[in-house]
Amino acid sequence: MTKFADLNLSPALLKAVNRMGFEEATPIQAKTIPLSMAGKDLIGQAQTGTGKTAAFGIPLIEKIDVKSQHVQGIIIAPTRELAIQVSEELYKIGVDARVKVLAVYGGSDIQRQIRSLKKGPHIIVGTPGRILDHINRRTLKLGNVHTLILDEADEMLNMGFIDDIEAILETVPEERQTLLFSATMPEPIRRIAERFMKSPETVRVQAKEMTVPLIEQFFVKVPEKEKFDVLARLIDVQSPELAIVFGRTKRRVDELSNALTVRGYTAEGIHGDLSQAKRLSVLKKFKEGKVDVLVATDVAARGLDISGVTHVYNYDIPQDPESYVHRIGRTGRAGKEGMAITFVSPREMGYLRIVEQTTKKRMQPMRPPTWDEALEGQQRITMEKLEESIKEGNLDEYKSVAKDLLTEYDDAITVIAAALKVLTKEPDKTPVHITEEKPLPQKRESFKGGGSGRGGENRNRRGKSGQQPYKGNRKPQRRPTGRRP
Ligand code: ADP
Ligand code: MG
Repeated sequence: MTKFADLNLSPALLKAVNRMGFEEATPIQAKTIPLSMAGKDLIGQAQTGTGKTAAFGIPLIEKIDVKSQHVQGIIIAPTRELAIQVSEELYKIGVDARVKVLAVYGGSDIQRQIRSLKKGPHIIVGTPGRILDHINRRTLKLGNVHTLILDEADEMLNMGFIDDIEAILETVPEERQTLLFSATMPEPIRRIAERFMKSPETVRVQAKEMTVPLIEQFFVKVPEKEKFDVLARLIDVQSPELAIVFGRTKRRVDELSNALTVRGYTAEGIHGDLSQAKRLSVLKKFKEGKVDVLVATDVAARGLDISGVTHVYNYDIPQDPESYVHRIGRTGRAGKEGMAITFVSPREMGYLRIVEQTTKKRMQPMRPPTWDEALEGQQRITMEKLEESIKEGNLDEYKSVAKDLLTEYDDAITVIAAALKVLTKEPDKTPVHITEEKPLPQKRESFKGGGSGRGGENRNRRGKSGQQPYKGNRKPQRRPTGRRP
């Protein structure tokens, strides 16, 4: 266990880190901060949610000369949301040290960004396209940059930003420190890193170290046609505080969020086709708890730091195991417990096994809840609300009506049952339309091994060589339903 106090931080940073409530450094932070403060080039790989932002942000902020008006550090991130999130985290880390951070990204007023750039920010966080745009307009000069960071590098590679990044690098002094952080490390990234960096040190934290153990992982075997009803019942039974539902396509996300809304849940969807303003407003509502269920595609949700997610529902099993790890990384963040439930159509069971081989964890089978169980779940919520109200008191204004009712019907149980019924959101059966998705293709030969099963560039080569084929001897005795304990 590494305390931040043991990492040689300046008092201003220690103060900030304490205020942010970090008790100890995460493994990737403990391993990379000293190297980075020593000026080394660095490749850091750790799963989503393990605190990579502070891992590069703390040493960067330590290096900033606040008396200078020049941009000294630049962080390139794949999406606007991530750029914003990183800049917010850096602001919190640097505020006591008076470090100025600015986020620049497409889709937002460029003139306003130009005015902000004139105020002498020390650190720029931006998306590749907009950074280049500012460089070309000469509104952003990187001649004094001493530290360059590529964040979520795997995602930038997937999104085809390599040329943009190279163009940006040409304007940054060669005499610099370069850091690259990523959740996964496919071979092309490693090659790029070698090109841009000077004998980088590689620090890798195993996927299991932080997030996965805190997440209970279940799967529900369910035919495509029944998925939606199962999802609705699970939500009724489990009454998640904050849930994310992952769908495979944009159409799915739209249909699911509409269908959930029709059935009376507060749900919204995000995917890449929505405008930036819309995506930000959905995320904001979700973070504030005004939306209970966020429906998202992998790309839209990747890397986003959304805390407090209690349940992740994989409406569709992800194509590749790494997306699975990313998805469930949305829950159980920063020490909180979470639950992940993956729907698998009977023909996709092979994919489940591939995921399990990657995470080295079995998912427990879960029986889909029945309609009656969903109703019970909703009744329990009503009861809890009633009990809360009893505890709060303040009922005098209602007592005389209550007395009237009891005189008239004199069976207290009937009166209470009626009140419960009125207050309970009964599991809704309103018909909804969800376009069926074809199950993923069956590739029997594919899980016999060969590749490392990790590379993004070779998605067909799944499974680890030399690994025993999965035997499928699950223990059937205890089949938890979605009920809360
Ligand atoms: P990553 O980039 O690895 O996906 P983030 O940097 O977005 O992860 O961090 C995820 C969350 O964990 C953020 O809310 C962040 O503030 C929090 N966090 C980071 N470091 C720590 C720490 N040492 N202790 C507790 N929470 C932390
Ligand atoms: Mg990150």
